[in-house]
Amino acid sequence: MSTAQRTAVIVGAGVTGLSTAYQLARMGYGRVIVFDKDGIGAGSSRRAAGITTGLLWSETGIRARQVATRLFRELSRDLPGYVFHNEHGCLNLFDERLWPARERLLPLYDRLLAPYQVLGPEEIQRRWPALRVPKGFLGLHDPLGGYSEPTEYLAGLRQRLLELGVELRERETVSGLELRGDRIVGVRTASGVVAADAVVAATYAWTLPFLASAGITLPAKTFVHQRYVSEPLAAPLPLPPVNADPFGGYLRPAHGGRILLGVETPARPEFRVSDLGFRLDELSDQEGLRDRAIERFRDFFPPLATIRWESAHVGLLSFSLDGEPILGPVPGCSGLFVGLCFHSGGFSYSPASGRFLAEYVANGAPSIDLTAFLPGRNPADETQAYLAATISQDQSFRRRH
Ligand SMILES: Cc1cc2nc3c(=O)[nH]c(=O)nc-3n(C[C@H](O)[C@H](O)[C@H](O)COP(=O)(O)OP(=O)(O)OC[C@H]3O[C@@H](n4cnc5c(N)ncnc54)[C@H](O)[C@@H]3O)c2cc1C
Repeated sequence: MSTAQRTAVIVGAGVTGLSTAYQLARMGYGRVIVFDKDGIGAGSSRRAAGITTGLLWSETGIRARQVATRLFRELSRDLPGYVFHNEHGCLNLFDERLWPARERLLPLYDRLLAPYQVLGPEEIQRRWPALRVPKGFLGLHDPLGGYSEPTEYLAGLRQRLLELGVELRERETVSGLELRGDRIVGVRTASGVVAADAVVAATYAWTLPFLASAGITLPAKTFVHQRYVSEPLAAPLPLPPVNADPFGGYLRPAHGGRILLGVETPARPEFRVSDLGFRLDELSDQEGLRDRAIERFRDFFPPLATIRWESAHVGLLSFSLDGEPILGPVPGCSGLFVGLCFHSGGFSYSPASGRFLAEYVANGAPSIDLTAFLPGRNPADETQAYLAATISQDQSFRRRH
């Protein structure tokens, strides 16, 4: 059967699922149906800060981000109302303690032609006068990085998907998978079985309960994460998105002259999602968290001291056992594909995750080597041990976007 006659079901209308649908539709794949139990972007996608950098930790990650960064630019031309903000690139900040580990990655960036510049405090302040970088700190500037406003991106994708003929079915939970032997033949919903030649589980924090019905387990954990948006400043400040690990968070300019501040919670224990009915609205941040973050950040970015805050967004991040995404075909279940565990960078990966998942579905293989991301790369006993332990985020990986 040609791909034009096949049906793909995508479970989850976050940035991963929507990007997969977009890519499949652009490839001329037959029928593409996206289900979301709540609505478009209702998971972590609407809550993301949308920061992107290509300066990651592994060869596969860097190559995947090169695809993603290129696609964000193309999407800026194709999605109505969406712009990838690359005006200032993206600045990754390090102190003397954190820099050596990153410095060891520079030869990898050189080999893969991932551009960067190492900036000292004076140069950072010359470029962005609002930032006061302490002595001994360094900035690793990614000229191809930037940020997206999640609401604009999601709205643009939605409109384009409808134009491309993708069926968007919101407020419909996919309760399970239909299997014939070891082959997927469809999904179960409240209105009945929907037949499919391929199913993509883009269910992120809900993946473990979703796949449990088919006896599939993956080494995935979820952690609470939060970000805040200010009221508009009196005048917008020229500022790059800054991944500021020494201060335990990140900031960026936001729509309408606002500031976005993201805050990590290293000591907070993992949060387990055990049923499909769970909604992220049930989460809350910890009392006083934002104010403590402002204390850490305010010498670096003095306007924070007087800023008034407008909104808070709390969601989940998903992490695998080795810190790398889990993306590709599920072993032992022909026709089933997953994409999750994008650490804190699932928004950033999403155009590429969608491209690769679509390539798996339509062509059987992705256009770059994704062996390092394959589901099933971890032995079953390691997966079980990882799932059995309860850990806090600082016992997992610190991977910023
Ligand atoms: C506060 C915060 C800030 C972040 N900042 C950044 C950032 O700056 N840069 C970055 O790259 N990443 C960031 N992230 C991470 C990013 O948000 C996620 O990695 C990304 O949104 C994951 O997208 P997704 O589509 O895979 O998952 P989600 O957006 O969570 O989508 C999963 C969807 O599946 C649906 N679903 C689940 N189960 C079912 C079912 N059985 N049937 C039907 N529907 C189902 C859910 O309703 C949900 O809409 C941040 C996350 C948070 C919480």
